[in-house]
Amino acid sequence: MSESVGVIVIGAGPSGLATAALLVGRGARVALVDPYRLAVHHPRATHVDDETVRIMQTLGAAHLEPQFLRHADGGYEIYDAHHRLVRYMPWRPEPTDQGWYGDYQFFQPDLENVLRGRLHASPHFASYLGWRATAIEQTDTQVTVTVRHDRTGEQRTLTARYLVGCDGARSTVRGLISPDVEDLRGTHRSLILDIAPFTTSPAVPVNDAFTKAIPPNPITCLPISHGMVRFEWLLNPRDVTEDFEQPARWYELLAPFYAPGDYRIARADVYRWESLLPTRWRRGNLFIAGDAAHQMPPHLGQGMGSGLRDAMNLAWKLDACLAGADESLLDTYQSEREPHVRVYVQAAVAAANGVEWMSENPGEPGDAPAVAEAAMPSPQLGPGVHGTTAGGSGALSPQPRLLGGERMDDVVGYRFAVIGDPTLLGAVDPATAAAWERIGASVIAETPPELRRWLDEHGADAAVIRPDRYVLGLASCADELDTLTARLVTVLDAPQRTPVNGRVSVTEGV
Ligand SMILES: Cc1cc2nc3c(=O)[nH]c(=O)nc-3n(C[C@H](O)[C@H](O)[C@H](O)COP(=O)(O)OP(=O)(O)OC[C@H]3O[C@@H](n4cnc5c(N)ncnc54)[C@H](O)[C@@H]3O)c2cc1C
Repeated sequence: MSESVGVIVIGAGPSGLATAALLVGRGARVALVDPYRLAVHHPRATHVDDETVRIMQTLGAAHLEPQFLRHADGGYEIYDAHHRLVRYMPWRPEPTDQGWYGDYQFFQPDLENVLRGRLHASPHFASYLGWRATAIEQTDTQVTVTVRHDRTGEQRTLTARYLVGCDGARSTVRGLISPDVEDLRGTHRSLILDIAPFTTSPAVPVNDAFTKAIPPNPITCLPISHGMVRFEWLLNPRDVTEDFEQPARWYELLAPFYAPGDYRIARADVYRWESLLPTRWRRGNLFIAGDAAHQMPPHLGQGMGSGLRDAMNLAWKLDACLAGADESLLDTYQSEREPHVRVYVQAAVAAANGVEWMSENPGEPGDAPAVAEAAMPSPQLGPGVHGTTAGGSGALSPQPRLLGGERMDDVVGYRFAVIGDPTLLGAVDPATAAAWERIGASVIAETPPELRRWLDEHGADAAVIRPDRYVLGLASCADELDTLTARLVTVLDAPQRTPVNGRVSVTEGV
């Protein structure tokens, strides 16, 4: 038996679910393959930032936000081997320009369950949950995947124009696309113990998170949502993994915090963290996203968020190409996303290696160290479908409340948006207005105060924002908006263009 779809997504973790959800939302037919019939029900990602919650909003999961643990005052503290604070990343306790708070803790299985449910309600969704991809082949125009049902052994053949491998850190698809992987040298092992306490502990913070680089095993402790607490012990190079997989060891490690009968253990696993970036994210019609495309230590809480950003970046481009856009557009997926996620991987590597170094080289207490205050990075996209204006194009757009009180993305949906001064928007060439209609852009002729402030910072009166919420370009007159739109239309419509150095030349200066 065989089935033909537009896109096959391998892997139903958050990256695959998000990619599939965004594509079916635009009317593309998608088959999603994963051996797990149910979402994995133990926590993995816990920290989410404002951009990630904004993506959840696009995915129809914003109703989960009230259940998240919203960080108030305080932050993530890193202590040296002598219990002295050396690094501090404050939480952002006020709503940010993204329309959400800056830092939360959440429960990953909830998001996965919402997305699984939403997908099953879509007429464009072909569910292969319970199935495993066993073989992948591609020609110039088609991808063929053999899937096998995990219980019955039944085999089927799926064909599609494109395949996205969201098959996680041990990705098979990555092996087909990019045997070469760059190692950013942040490899560690740690024991993760998630517990649901039946009581409070004075040794466990209710809002802050901390890492203490105390030898022989630096400890991280943070509250996570649903009343749970996460502990993490970094294994040193001499530790034997199996020792940390023994229940007796878990109770011993938790003893300074809780009495043995005062908690339920929700999970206990030793992870091996790597910091990897594959050289290629695309080969022909095969792509990778999420942990398959980047791995990092968990110190920044950005692994899942990065996978969701991949989905937001790739889905509208795949959909445009299914609708006839030149496939060189798809090369901008890696050129934009890889430099962006590299910033997070490097920051997470620096944090993880720093903790290990302090623990392995405790030295003498000496003078009190200076405390470094750090902020969450907010990089711009690499070269691609956006202009080059510093600070504007290629940066994440704000999400203002519109004059009617709605959050902007709720009005826009997963589409292009043109937003700005009504006089300017009304003065564009009729061909520009027709192009906005043809590409399904949401045109919002207003400048609510938060938007006005942001436009003023950039000397602009209007913005074109991509479906992934990154800025295509800014304009201060109708001519600029005409030019911006004409270039966008070239990217989305033109059937014949020549890739330059593997990238789309028309994107410069958009
Ligand atoms: C302890 C821990 C703490 C973390 N903390 C954070 C955090 O605070 N914030 C954050 O943003 N991120 C965090 N992360 C990272 C985050 O959980 C991952 O980045 C995220 O789950 C990756 O999602 P993914 O969809 O790319 O891959 P995965 O979630 O790994 O999903 C891959 C899927 O592919 C499927 N698959 C594999 N092979 C096949 C095949 N042949 N056929 C079909 N399906 C296949 C698997 O069954 C799996 O379901 C943490 C991770 C861990 C483990």
